[in-house]
Amino acid sequence: MNAGEKTAIAEFLNLAAGYVKDGYKREIENYSFNDDPQEPEQTSLPLAYITEESEEDETGEDSLNTIAADISACAACGLSATRTFVVPGEGAERPLVMVIGEGPGAEEDKTGRPFVGKAGQLLDKMLASIGLSRDENCFIANMVKCRPPGNRDPAYEEITACGQFLKRQISLLRPRFILCAGRVAAQSLLKTGTGINALRGDFLELRLGETAIPVLCTYHPSAILRNESLKRPAWEDLKLLKSRVEERD
Ligand code: SF4
Repeated sequence: MNAGEKTAIAEFLNLAAGYVKDGYKREIENYSFNDDPQEPEQTSLPLAYITEESEEDETGEDSLNTIAADISACAACGLSATRTFVVPGEGAERPLVMVIGEGPGAEEDKTGRPFVGKAGQLLDKMLASIGLSRDENCFIANMVKCRPPGNRDPAYEEITACGQFLKRQISLLRPRFILCAGRVAAQSLLKTGTGINALRGDFLELRLGETAIPVLCTYHPSAILRNESLKRPAWEDLKLLKSRVEERD
């Protein structure tokens, strides 16, 4: 680890510790994964990529709007009865990275947008620390598109019922990489009972037909906010993702 990385991690840990100590009084806007000016390359990942198939996709049968409309009309599981808004997901149409969490929380349910609460703001900071953003090169979605009441984990039947939408989104977006946020999303997506501690730290693979998409699992931002010891491994995961993206591009 070079001096710049050490400084970035130390500053991040200090900020995070202060945030936790202050009982979350510290504004999330002041919370940074890596704002070390010694590491300018951390903001140099490319914008969403363009493929020759882009034009065809725009006139094809499926689209993000069609998927969102189908989600809005969906009542395939009990979560439809308690939702305020569905949360289909948002971001770049040709994302380098698709971030997948478990399900919407209270803020997301109120707004119809993914990861907009405190955990979502931390996610944006985490992504920004390696040059990613939902505006330019990421798409952010969840396993289930409606909020589980009380922020409980989505049930197996709910994840199964909602899986059709996630599968359509992945097929349409064809992300170069998937970043899986948290145990529930990781276990559901990869169909495994292995814990997040063992799943994170290296790339796994999601097969979708002929396509194999590299998947990196890491801790959910809300878990990181609760447990500061998760900051360092999450930072290591993000650096690994950045290096793999750079290798591939
Ligand atoms: Fe439909 Fe998914 Fe909402 Fe369940 S969570 S009602 S499957 S959109």
